[in-house]
Amino acid sequence: MDPTSLTIHELRDRLIRKEIGARELTRHFLDRIERLDTRLHAYLALQGETALREAERLDRRSDDLGSLPLAGIPLAIKDVICTRGVRTTCGSRILENFVPPYDGSVIEKLRNAGAIFLGKANMDEFAMGSSTENSGFGPTRNPWDPSRVPGGSSGGSAAAVAADLCAGSLGTDTGGSIRQPASFCGVVGLKPTYGRVSRFGLVAFASSLDQIGPITKDVEDAALLLQVIAGHDQRDSTSISMPVPDYVSGIRQPIKGLRLGIPKEYFVQGMSPEVEDAVRTAIRKCEELGAEIMEVSLPHTEYGVAAYYIIAPAEASSNLARYDGVKYGLRVSNARDLLSMYRQSRSRGFGPEVKRRIMLGTYVLSAGYYDAYYRKASQVRTLIRQDFLDAFERCDALLAPVAPIPAFKIGEKSDDPLQMYLSDVLTLPASLAGIPGISVPCGFSSEGLPIGLQILGPHLREDLILRIGYQYEQHTEHHLPRPAL
Ligand code: GLN
Repeated sequence: MDPTSLTIHELRDRLIRKEIGARELTRHFLDRIERLDTRLHAYLALQGETALREAERLDRRSDDLGSLPLAGIPLAIKDVICTRGVRTTCGSRILENFVPPYDGSVIEKLRNAGAIFLGKANMDEFAMGSSTENSGFGPTRNPWDPSRVPGGSSGGSAAAVAADLCAGSLGTDTGGSIRQPASFCGVVGLKPTYGRVSRFGLVAFASSLDQIGPITKDVEDAALLLQVIAGHDQRDSTSISMPVPDYVSGIRQPIKGLRLGIPKEYFVQGMSPEVEDAVRTAIRKCEELGAEIMEVSLPHTEYGVAAYYIIAPAEASSNLARYDGVKYGLRVSNARDLLSMYRQSRSRGFGPEVKRRIMLGTYVLSAGYYDAYYRKASQVRTLIRQDFLDAFERCDALLAPVAPIPAFKIGEKSDDPLQMYLSDVLTLPASLAGIPGISVPCGFSSEGLPIGLQILGPHLREDLILRIGYQYEQHTEHHLPRPAL
């Protein structure tokens, strides 16, 4: 049996029992990447040599690997997370040659847990996008249909998991970038509560929204990875200092008696009937499993896109001011003076979507417009958050679609930014509210494209959405089919 198709928990058992060695397993993944990734372009860079060396080191250890939760597990990391000594481009030409001098906290934690790093995953430039077409190094293709996008911005991370080019991966989600690509690629993606996972070493896009989370082949794997990366970190003052529960053992508890809300605003106009059918069937499944289903309202949902596309670009315009050709990344060599060096470096280094966001963000923050745009958007954000808090008075968690349509064609939306922004309508509100969300496979379209079910929970209730996702998954088979590659 090809070990690359196994889940992390299956691989873990085999590695501990020494039925397979870490080096042998890593080799399998590297061979597969070599064979398939020229077509998919899920990876921007590989760390094959180091990965094999690290794996060998694990194989030589005589002690019990069982004490390391991820011993020998080969992972892919979205290229927006700093890896010491390994190029971290954020999918941008401006950081094409940037080698961070330190590891992000999540990398340290994974390393200490015994994980092996295969390489850095492709993404929309600075995580701005929903299709991975905004990568400065060319798009990633969807393993289910290479003429389509894998979603974004963590498209490389999701495609790599779906195509068995890694055992699991890390993505980041600012407005849907873990959940939506997971849904488009037929894998599991979890966006934790804002602050649950340290952002130290994550290159900032919109600091009040960014979160790192796992993308995996099943829900148990997502629980395993979250277990390792969650927790307070002194180096990120926005990380939450609450104890990390035992996510893995929590998932086995049945969902009988849970109250699950269906937000009526999430079945939007223009939604594909196939997506709606798959999600409604999933809801009935949860009801069969003993959950109580109720309709709820999140009345400010329709303002989510407008609020997000003010707040996120505003924060981005400020965060991206640091790329000035002096401290990091690209610097043009032939500039006359300092100002033209700034201008030319930024003009050449940033792609069109990033420039659009910087202009939007600078505009909404500028004197005279701040109150009308940024302040107003922040107020709307509070209303959206309150919608969720009200809903969670009545129900334990929410079930909804992740995206209105399955994976679209490469090029289909790329010259219409507004259409691209509108496709985020069902993931942005949870990001604005800071609550956790997970995407779990719940079916396929008639064209064979995966569809995801989104489960949203109250702040810090990752345990609950993982449990619902796991119980649903245990009683369905939508997570089992593999793309033919
Ligand atoms: N698609 C959204 C955007 O372009 C969200 C991206 C993300 O979550 N990083 O901003």
